[in-house]
Amino acid sequence: MDNDVKNGACLDERALFQDCTRLWGVEAQIHMLIEECAELIRAACHYGFRDLYEPSQYSNFIEELADVEIMCAQMRLYVGDKIVDEEKEIKLGRLLQRVAKECKKHQEGGTERVGENE
Ligand SMILES: [Mg+2]
Repeated sequence: MDNDVKNGACLDERALFQDCTRLWGVEAQIHMLIEECAELIRAACHYGFRDLYEPSQYSNFIEELADVEIMCAQMRLYVGDKIVDEEKEIKLGRLLQRVAKECKKHQEGGTERVGENE
């Protein structure tokens, strides 16, 4: 491996991700996305439900988050930024409305937590 790449100094993520898809094919990368999502789910369960204060569970959770982010970035590049950005904007708009609604309830003295009444 080139020293610059190893140190991250000149890493062009988009080019790297395009190379991954070209090298292994989109189907293999989707399978990798599925595998990494499954590993993140498992790590989140161990970290969130069992050992919130166990350093090894925390580091495994962080490692799997990074893996999923890398695979999501590859998929985003494959399907195109525009379509993902448009969908994300819709989802963020909905989230904003939900949070505003929940904040209003809390200000009025409600005790429901976000997402409990969906
Ligand atoms: Mg992983």
